[in-house]
Amino acid sequence: MRYDQATWTREDGDENAGSYEPLLAEKRSTEVTVDESPLPDDLTRESVELPDPSEPELARHYTRLSQMNYGVESGPFPLGSCTMKYNPKFTEDVAALPGAGTHPARSAASTQGTLELRHHLQTYLARIGGMHSVTLQPPAGAAGEFTGILVAKAYHEEHGNDRNEIIVPESAHGTNFASAALAGYEVVSLPSAEDGRVDVDALEAAVSDDTAALMLTNPNTLGLFERDIEEIAEIVHGAGGLLYYDGANLNALLGRVRPGDMGFDVMHYNVHKTFATPHGGGGPGAGPVGVVEELAPYLPSPQIEERDGEYERVEPEHTIGKVHGFAGNWLVLLKTYAYIARLGDSGLTDTSAKAVLNANYLASQIEYEIPFSPFHHEFVASADRDAADVAKRMLDYGVHPPTTKWPEIVDEALMTEPTEAETQAALDQLARAFNHAADDGDEALETAPERTAAGRIDQADAARNPRLSWQALDD
Ligand SMILES: *Cc1c(COP(=O)(O)O)cnc(C)c1O
Repeated sequence: MRYDQATWTREDGDENAGSYEPLLAEKRSTEVTVDESPLPDDLTRESVELPDPSEPELARHYTRLSQMNYGVESGPFPLGSCTMKYNPKFTEDVAALPGAGTHPARSAASTQGTLELRHHLQTYLARIGGMHSVTLQPPAGAAGEFTGILVAKAYHEEHGNDRNEIIVPESAHGTNFASAALAGYEVVSLPSAEDGRVDVDALEAAVSDDTAALMLTNPNTLGLFERDIEEIAEIVHGAGGLLYYDGANLNALLGRVRPGDMGFDVMHYNVHKTFATPHGGGGPGAGPVGVVEELAPYLPSPQIEERDGEYERVEPEHTIGKVHGFAGNWLVLLKTYAYIARLGDSGLTDTSAKAVLNANYLASQIEYEIPFSPFHHEFVASADRDAADVAKRMLDYGVHPPTTKWPEIVDEALMTEPTEAETQAALDQLARAFNHAADDGDEALETAPERTAAGRIDQADAARNPRLSWQALDD
């Protein structure tokens, strides 16, 4: 496709293509000629064409680009299971402090402050999860799952347990199945009971001498608390298996219930969800893993330990090795530290209360069926038509839509998690978007969105034939 450079409109006249902001390189107005260069001749190239925008042009360019996008600072972003909460600026300030990013190869003696913070964060997370020890190394939730399962596997091997199966409820996040399979296990998928929770009878039938672990999300992806968790733990432990907690939904439980107290042996924390570090668009996250005492010797190396007031990097006795370079995504972890330290016990407890209240308030304001309840920090509404069309239409009402078509237990699912960060006014705005989209005719839904920077995108084509560079626009 081509653009008319005078007006920046598409030459093919496709009005549904939305707005367009040219690249600075495309906008270059005057030729840059450098008569005299301080560089030696063989290091200069005439072919290098640099843009030369004026300062206001440059400022407007980036402002326009930012306005074509939608982020958590534009409005509500209720992607269920993703916990897209607002990221407070003070955490950025902390991560930007001089010295925050010390070189990871420096000696322990010269980086005591950084090691102390890492040790504090290990301790905070262990306390929040009811775990004995925590590693900060894994760089994402999925990487945390993989690490946790490798730790469980090493534990079983060390104890001579020959177990080759991991049980995963069918409502689990796709990464659970993938992590178990990647660690070399057979994945046994567990059907849900009628009420959307774990079917305890089916679990009893599924566990055996082959069970290495059960991976569980609680509240599950429908937002329902697995209230049989103690019985579930007994069944799995009784068969010699371990209990893995997918901590991505910890926002519902913060300060109230601890996975360790529910009987879980190993868990990951999605700090870029629960503890407000930015995520999305493939940016860095962190997925620390917590374990009970029996599993601590298998954690990745190094762990940070304190001895007589000195912080040291220590290799756990039966460590599975390293799962990431150096200290993991340290600046993300530093923001996590700042967030937890600032909120403290009462702030974290308040967070879960508001997250659950907001989800329940929003649900009460929308005209959609919500088949499973009582839900906590998120709910899954059912659209009585194509959930993707409803989601695209919601964009036209100025909000980000919920997660669509998952979990599959709900027809045309709209999985909605407003988070504690939204005000009542923002929740009302979201509810209006839901309800307008429900009332709109089929044509409006099928052609939506029409008020966004990009019109309706051919998703299949975008996934199969991605254009990864701006030059591809010329094709
Ligand atoms: C987000 C999520 C994960 C995976 O976390 P990533 O950081 O995206 O790898 C796992 N389980 C659940 C329930 C999630 O919502």
